[in-house]
Amino acid sequence: SNVANKIAAGEVVERPASIVKELVENSIDGQSSVIEVFIENGGKDKIEVVDNGVGIKSEDVHLAFKRHATSKIENEKDLESIISLGFRGEALPSIAAVSKVEVLTKTSDDELGVRYKIDGGIDEHLNSAPANKGTRFVVQDLFFNTPARKKFLKTTATELGYITDLMGRFVLCNPDISFKLYHNNRRLIASTGNGSLKQAISDVLGTSAAENALKVDNQSSKIDIQGYVVKPSITKSNRSGQFIFINNRIVRSKLLSKALEDGYKTLLPQNRYPLAVLKINLPPEGIDVNVHPSKQEVKFDNERIVYQSLKAAVDSSLLEKPLVTE
Ligand code: ADP
Ligand code: MG
Repeated sequence: SNVANKIAAGEVVERPASIVKELVENSIDGQSSVIEVFIENGGKDKIEVVDNGVGIKSEDVHLAFKRHATSKIENEKDLESIISLGFRGEALPSIAAVSKVEVLTKTSDDELGVRYKIDGGIDEHLNSAPANKGTRFVVQDLFFNTPARKKFLKTTATELGYITDLMGRFVLCNPDISFKLYHNNRRLIASTGNGSLKQAISDVLGTSAAENALKVDNQSSKIDIQGYVVKPSITKSNRSGQFIFINNRIVRSKLLSKALEDGYKTLLPQNRYPLAVLKINLPPEGIDVNVHPSKQEVKFDNERIVYQSLKAAVDSSLLEKPLVTE
């Protein structure tokens, strides 16, 4: 089963950012209000995620690292609704199979916490230890036991870029959670977590982007689009300032980027891209997010409606006039 874990790890753990994604998602699922991420050398040497969530019961810690062990599915109906979130209990065993993991965790019911160490999916150690309520994961030496894959890791700057982008998306998707990101002890992101999307935009894209953000609000029976577009006086040379969520999931979609940019019409200077944070809600049966668990691509049943609604919503926000809908 260690072999199975290593194979599955290839699906889940592509690079340091994949580990950060899984650990932070677990922290969010665990009802944390503060999540801190400490990275060393682009995550290749060390990834540490500390939360103040519900913690893991001492008797469940060992189990959490077993394949398909999840506390999140209680019946078959749950399985249907959770399947799109990805891995159903595969993240921790996959991460542990290709790195050295240490977890310190405590629930509010327990007096003492528990420390659990696992190296390369084997060599486990479990002992009780004092801890705050919540969970601290430390993941070191990624791919120490799969040198061929370690070779494919990119430079520190590139790997860190993936992590920073990911954390920005977490902030914008969860304005009620306070996130911090540190790289080699330097603070890169600190979000207030006061629940305001505009504040989260300020925390991720900067105060001037937030000050120049225009509200988008397009609600209809078929689609609900909420968020902000930044006035075209502030642009970027790439699409890194575009954050689009569907049903609260981070997505990448050429169609949605095009709809956003077409909404700006001729307002954009040549080769410049808009900044925007848009949250789209659709009936779940109209979209397919299960292309690949770690990919963020989506497919739509009715691309035309999504494209036109988004473009129209952006267009009317930029004109600062009410949207005319049929
Ligand atoms: P999944 O998230 O799909 O359930 P994981 O392998 O990511 O599977 O995690 C396994 C289990 O470990 C979770 O179901 C949860 O019970 C527990 N867990 C992991 N991280 C945390 C955390 N930060 N806080 C609370 N529980 C956690
Ligand atoms: Mg998980």
